[in-house]
Amino acid sequence: MTIAAPAKPARRAPRSRSSAETRIVRSIGEAIADRRLPPGTKLTEESLAEIFGVSRERVRKVLLLLAQRRVVTLIPNRGAFVAKPTAREAREVFEARRVIERSIMERLEGMPRPLPAEMLARLRDHETLEDAAEQAADRKAMIRLSGQFHLLLAEFAGNATLAGILADLIDRSGLAIAAFERQSSHTCSAEDHRRLIAALAGNAPGEAAALMIAHLDAVERQLDLDTKPETRIDLKAIFADEPA
Ligand SMILES: [Zn+2]
Repeated sequence: MTIAAPAKPARRAPRSRSSAETRIVRSIGEAIADRRLPPGTKLTEESLAEIFGVSRERVRKVLLLLAQRRVVTLIPNRGAFVAKPTAREAREVFEARRVIERSIMERLEGMPRPLPAEMLARLRDHETLEDAAEQAADRKAMIRLSGQFHLLLAEFAGNATLAGILADLIDRSGLAIAAFERQSSHTCSAEDHRRLIAALAGNAPGEAAALMIAHLDAVERQLDLDTKPETRIDLKAIFADEPA
């Protein structure tokens, strides 16, 4: 299989989208993913247009795209908000992840042994980055890297459709975790990821898939259904470094 040219999830950028829209989608998407914009935050068109130096029409297009990915909710006459999943939606997202990621692990387990050295090297390099982020207590990097680890496995499994669905589910599980996590922990344990890599490098049938299910169960167990007090978010402060 080819490792150097990964199958990119198809949802990222329809060809017709302008580069400004792509940039804004990415900036807002990242701010949602790393929890600077928590679930329920109001995304005012006027502020975003000013922050990113674009028209309100363009902001509306961006918000529509994010709504299609279910990370933003559009409420008539009230505007756009960072999606706030219900407890039921949170459970559904994790259930969907277990189905998809079990399949991804089974595909990887079915690959000829030994696994390509380059694949293992990339997984271990990623693990080193996760360790460094954990030691530095860099929460933003930890969240980003833990999502990337799961996408890396999907990419190696070689099914771009599964990888694309998983990319959306990872964004939505990030929102579920932000909405329901018990304390300010991060999504994944680097130790779990290390054990997953070891299981893939070894060859015990079913072990890596079982570990993945246990790992996702552990992440889901961090959730608590108690609601949190609302906090006011200053959009201009969040995007202070954005070039207009
Ligand atoms: Zn993980």
